[in-house]
Amino acid sequence: MEQTVKTICPYCGVGCGLAVKIRDGKIVEVKGDKTHPSTLGGICPKGAQIAEIIVTPDRLTTAQIRADRTAPFESVTLDAALGHVADKFRAIIREQGPDAVAFYISGQLTTETQYVFNKLAKGFIGTNNLDANSRLCMASAASAYKMAFGADAPPTCYDDIELAECFFIVGANMADCHPVLWQRIKRRTSRKRVRVIVVDPRRTTTAEGADLHLAIKPGTDIPLLNAILHVLISQGWINEKFIRSHTDNWEAVHAVAETWTPARAAKVCGIDEMDIHRAAFWFGQSAEALSLWTMGVNQSTSGVAKNLAIINLHLATGKIGRPGSGPFSLTGQPNAMGGREVGYLCGHLPGYRDVTNAQHRAEIASIWGVPEERIQPQPGLDAVKMFEALESGKVKALWVVGTNPLATMPNASLIRRALERAELVVVQDCYHPTETSKMAHVLLPGAMNLEVEGTMTNSERRISLLQPCVPPPGDARPDWEIATRFAALMGHEEQFSYACASDIFEEHKRCCADVYSLQMNGISYRRLKRKAVQWPCPTGASPGFARRFRNKAFPTASGHAQFHPVDFIPPAESVSPQYPLVLNTGRLSGHWHTRTKTGHVPKLNKISPAPFVSAHPTDASALGLVEGDAVRLISIRGSARTTLKLDEGIRPGTLFMPFHWGQSYDEGGCVNTLTNDASDPISREPELKFSAVRLEKIASIAT
Ligand code: SF4
Repeated sequence: MEQTVKTICPYCGVGCGLAVKIRDGKIVEVKGDKTHPSTLGGICPKGAQIAEIIVTPDRLTTAQIRADRTAPFESVTLDAALGHVADKFRAIIREQGPDAVAFYISGQLTTETQYVFNKLAKGFIGTNNLDANSRLCMASAASAYKMAFGADAPPTCYDDIELAECFFIVGANMADCHPVLWQRIKRRTSRKRVRVIVVDPRRTTTAEGADLHLAIKPGTDIPLLNAILHVLISQGWINEKFIRSHTDNWEAVHAVAETWTPARAAKVCGIDEMDIHRAAFWFGQSAEALSLWTMGVNQSTSGVAKNLAIINLHLATGKIGRPGSGPFSLTGQPNAMGGREVGYLCGHLPGYRDVTNAQHRAEIASIWGVPEERIQPQPGLDAVKMFEALESGKVKALWVVGTNPLATMPNASLIRRALERAELVVVQDCYHPTETSKMAHVLLPGAMNLEVEGTMTNSERRISLLQPCVPPPGDARPDWEIATRFAALMGHEEQFSYACASDIFEEHKRCCADVYSLQMNGISYRRLKRKAVQWPCPTGASPGFARRFRNKAFPTASGHAQFHPVDFIPPAESVSPQYPLVLNTGRLSGHWHTRTKTGHVPKLNKISPAPFVSAHPTDASALGLVEGDAVRLISIRGSARTTLKLDEGIRPGTLFMPFHWGQSYDEGGCVNTLTNDASDPISREPELKFSAVRLEKIASIAT
């Protein structure tokens, strides 16, 4: 028997629709889904090879337990494993209180799973110690949207690509990391007068395809952005009517921009002054401009300020809330947006609410059927603080779902010490071993995206339905079901008695009803089976809104968008004679995060076969290094070894190392042993993009 099932790609936040052909219970073909409104059949090699990640020797198919880390794992039933975890949780909570336990979940989980874990922790266990790997990804963008517009989420959509005349891409290598959107941009730029500006210290594949590459010194985005605003003001390319009618606090931003002449910024950024004028001219004089950014902006101790500086350009020119224009942060993960909607960061509640707001707590407590006081009024521990608390012994038990923090968190040596110190580490994943699962006491087998029903929201606020293509192997179960079975064992059976994922979605919808513009009343599983829909979608008759703020009404106290003045904040660390180079980290086109999935796919391994560090030939030659040398990088936090690659396109004084290869690939080769866990004061997103290091030759990679 043959059938085609519609789902979406479980990798990046583009959220490409997939049409998966199944014959006799096996996936025989994966194609882009031509009917998916976000991507119309577009797909990249990662999505196309998805069938190969399902049946692998390291799929976790049973629950496993061990008494301590020196003992081997033993397979047990899922109920026995959950019973064991419930006993341990109860004992720890009885002795130390609910804040002695913590959850670290993921933007790769369905909205339903994220919702259930969030409800369990914040509403029933009574701790706000639930955070997610979006903390490393989109936390800065989410904070900035809220500060500028009064609510999270981008106001734009993918169709704006076909209408923009200027693409301003900051700190994003879209060609490798969001390839389907980059192809759309390339198609658009085949027209006359459509320009692409890329801001990146590295000449990435994206920068190579740009009309203007601003190869700024790492961390100097704000001087550049303020100088562009300076030119927009001095040339009269701002929209005074929009500023007057729809914004507050322009004078303060104007005053800061005045101080950032292009000459001053060019010196700080290490670029040509004329290029700043050119960028401002293209941005200011184009009828429509779309800014796109990702981790190069967000992963910074001034990540929120950088986001606000980009948003200031759009507010100053009125290029927002209209087709083809707007600030558009892209999500790195398939459902980081869904996680933001359910409030899965430690200070948030569903429907873009905050734990610090009494009314918000009351509203959610009433939907969850718990007393208001059950939800704590202060944020829990963010990802960095959570692992610090685990290391210090303040947190005793950690439950990790669908993510691999030992390979992805900065300052990996601290993360290892934290996991070693924990009384209980529960890892719920599709695969074992991963770097993190090797540190677990209990393993819980989660089903993967192609095996479950659920929803995900992509970067343009479009909710898609994942439909199961194949059944999960062995005892693996949908992640939300594992959470609800645990909740029942903790005494909350009634409040977690969902028969199916759709029941959870309906409850999540109630949390989102009539909150700001986050409305999804008109969306249901039934409707999603026919077509993915964008929110806001207030009624079943609404098609869903592609763009927000068309009416220029912003959900702030004054109804106006808020300018925020931002000035240059240097990175937390600076280079020194001992650590003279700046290390930047990121992704390659062939792999996804820590390769737990893509490492199984020969075609993808061929695209991105092995780890490396790239350096400029002048830096390498000064150190007596040549292409292919085995090298060690050393920061104040640790060291990592790898192979040297020379790259003319990298800014002298900087290095780039991908983060895909963790300790399992090479015990001494994890880049995040080097990276800095200093975080943005507002978003608490760590500065993964800037670490001071030195580079030295070693005899061999095995050294
Ligand atoms: Fe689309 Fe991203 Fe998946 Fe590639 S990795 S198919 S661009 S969602």
